[in-house]
Amino acid sequence: MPPLLQADVYISSRLPIAVQRDGESSSFSPISCTLIHGEYEAVLVDTPISTSQTEDLVSWIKETAPGKVLRYIYITHGHGDHWFGISVLRKHWPNLRAIATRGTVEHMKEQVKPEIFEGIWLTLFPGNQIPQPPELAETLEAPIFEIDGNALHVIEVGHTDTYNTTVLHVPSIRLIVAGDAVYGDVHQYFGEANTTEKRKEWLRALDTIEALEPHAIIAGHKRAGTVDGLFNLHKTREYILAFEEAVKTSSDWKELYQEMQRLYPGRINPHAILRGALAAFPDS
Ligand SMILES: [Zn+2]
Repeated sequence: MPPLLQADVYISSRLPIAVQRDGESSSFSPISCTLIHGEYEAVLVDTPISTSQTEDLVSWIKETAPGKVLRYIYITHGHGDHWFGISVLRKHWPNLRAIATRGTVEHMKEQVKPEIFEGIWLTLFPGNQIPQPPELAETLEAPIFEIDGNALHVIEVGHTDTYNTTVLHVPSIRLIVAGDAVYGDVHQYFGEANTTEKRKEWLRALDTIEALEPHAIIAGHKRAGTVDGLFNLHKTREYILAFEEAVKTSSDWKELYQEMQRLYPGRINPHAILRGALAAFPDS
């Protein structure tokens, strides 16, 4: 048996959003980047958005796993906030491979089209904050890869907060790195999970993850101090069901937006639930 792996989580700063909501400025959700490492090798799961956030992450990796070879960056899903930092990391580790499923790579190609990259990402984070041009991941041919002889399993879980999402399962230490399938005390994004059918698919993804009986689950967006327990999965499920109920009892997006903030006053980033409320009432 190879020596046990270990894992550490880096939580990014909250990048200020250039577009005001309700006449107020806000900041993006913190992003989790998980480093799984053995005796000699490491894999990073997901990156932050900006060059400066990713340079901070690089320093943290060098401190956390000194002398180890960062072999892969695994990207859980196509949203740019989980992979725009790839090129910055590859400057520090030129042999590093960024890998993702075929579905994620297809989604990445959509994210760099001008209507999304310039229309959304550069509007939120203007100037040279996001490394450009964005560097995409390469397609992983099989849903499994290794570091130091330990297998890491890619699990496709379908639509969660967007389409074609995955989680990374590390059976030897019973760890799930959940991407945006699981949230940790941050408002969940329903901008794309905008129908009951899609939200049911998200609930099924949570069942799939729970069935793997993990001991730790890393949420893709989390409060830095939140413990990475199974309760995050239960709370993500509860929040989806609360949103589903609130959609039924609200007469417009504003009521829905307010109700979710009333139910979850402590969650970070109301901007995320605003997008979901607007998507639930597309005609208003
Ligand atoms: Zn995200």
